[in-house]
Amino acid sequence: METTTITLPAATISGHAHRSATTATSTPIHNAATGALIGWQEQATADQIDKAVREAHKALPSWRTTSPATRAKLLKKIAELIEADRARLAAMQMQVSGKPPFEANLDVSDAAATFDYYAGLCAEAAAFTPETLKLPDDTVTGERFYEAVGVAALIVPWNFPMVTTAWKIAPALAAGCTVVLKPSEFTSPVEHMLAQIIAEAGVPDGVVNLVNGGGAVGAQLTAHPLIDKISFTGSTASGRKVMQAAAQDMKRVTLELGGKSALIVRADADIERAVSLAVGGAFTNAGQMCSATARILVHDDVYRKFMAAFETAVRAIQVAPPAEDVVMGPLVSAAQRERVQALLAQGVEAGASVAFSGQLDPACGDGFFMAPVVVAEPAVDNVLWTDEVFGPVACVKSFRTDEEAIALANDTRYGLVATVVTADQDAARRYKTQLRAGLVWINTPQLIFPQVCWGGLGLSGIGRELGLAGLRSYQELRHALTDAA
Ligand code: NDP
Repeated sequence: METTTITLPAATISGHAHRSATTATSTPIHNAATGALIGWQEQATADQIDKAVREAHKALPSWRTTSPATRAKLLKKIAELIEADRARLAAMQMQVSGKPPFEANLDVSDAAATFDYYAGLCAEAAAFTPETLKLPDDTVTGERFYEAVGVAALIVPWNFPMVTTAWKIAPALAAGCTVVLKPSEFTSPVEHMLAQIIAEAGVPDGVVNLVNGGGAVGAQLTAHPLIDKISFTGSTASGRKVMQAAAQDMKRVTLELGGKSALIVRADADIERAVSLAVGGAFTNAGQMCSATARILVHDDVYRKFMAAFETAVRAIQVAPPAEDVVMGPLVSAAQRERVQALLAQGVEAGASVAFSGQLDPACGDGFFMAPVVVAEPAVDNVLWTDEVFGPVACVKSFRTDEEAIALANDTRYGLVATVVTADQDAARRYKTQLRAGLVWINTPQLIFPQVCWGGLGLSGIGRELGLAGLRSYQELRHALTDAA
């Protein structure tokens, strides 16, 4: 029997915990794998949000003028402390999200690698060194330079809390921005641990602040006039609200939103590999991924062979609470499971048919588990084919020509990622350029490196995270022209 040991303060501002005067607005924190209540999170008041932003604003002049070399050392230290605390971070990630150990550990590795990468960019210093411009007039000299945007509001969801937070905090700090972070209320204990690590590394008070609460707290944060930049990851619906809030003061925005991505299996594909990529693309993190490739397109010639192997693989997926051989954990909350099941029922009601599904381990008990489901040949206007499900539901459709596959894959207003499985390099090149997606994987799992930018087209968002572009998204580009005489 678990005990309710976690009590998170409403806010952490300049290194100090700020408690709420009332527990009436506190929200429960559950263990997703058991359903047990494991703690409570207080909700930040309007005054606490205001204070957090003002402290970040106060810390800005000193932090943005810290040398890149100093910032490099601090970011490197954060990466090392994350690695050193791997066991505790992974355990907390497993507790709140129910992720299997290998997924929880991947999240820790990704967070550490992100801080390490931005430490490297700071150490190189090239991204911070003013550049001289070649101009057609030698009576003037031109210079291009970059400067921290200012105070950044960072709002993250629950599906990869440690990862999405690292993708925002690391480049923001590298650029010289100070931040106010609002984690998702479902998984915030993970971010609290990260915030403690950042303080332990020696990042000065006021540079990283954290406010707890739901959408209303996020909305107050985005509306604050002293916020210069908002980086948001979450649903397209909330992303629209964030953009509207940003419009008032022309705040800079980066939006990493949903997706409805495709995985294409050509007739020449290695079917074993295609199945493995399909399982990973659709069911990693129980399908709760903006990058889920849950629209699987399979060439007619290999459709039956693929479906037979896919069925065997899906039935073999061990869905259970975190343990060594477990492949798939629960959904994040009872509400998310209800939402996914309702969408599945809606799709079936409209004519989609379930081809096969996986099964739950008896150990699943009261956790928020759902077995993986595969739907065959839904209509192109079926909700399961058109809408982001954000759960373990994949659709498979057959195609006859590359043109048809590309048209089907691109028939969405999202454009985050795509996967192509083929032995033909020429075909791979055509797909790479013709698929409308921010990142295309060819014959690989969903590899993510901090060097490679992340972000999508259309409804999948605006801007890019990670890579040099991720750093630039926290900087203003400026120029100076000087009389050379
Ligand atoms: P949301 O977009 O509502 O939440 C994402 C984050 O934004 C959370 O921290 C949330 O707070 C906060 N938030 C909500 N409304 C606002 C607002 N108006 N202004 C500022 N911040 C806000 O996603 P949900 O968690 O509700 O999930 C719903 C669906 O969204 C999922 O089923 C999935 O389809 C999609 N989604 C996509 C993600 C992605 O990575 N692309 C990630 C998560 C969800 P809080 O959650 O604490 O209330």
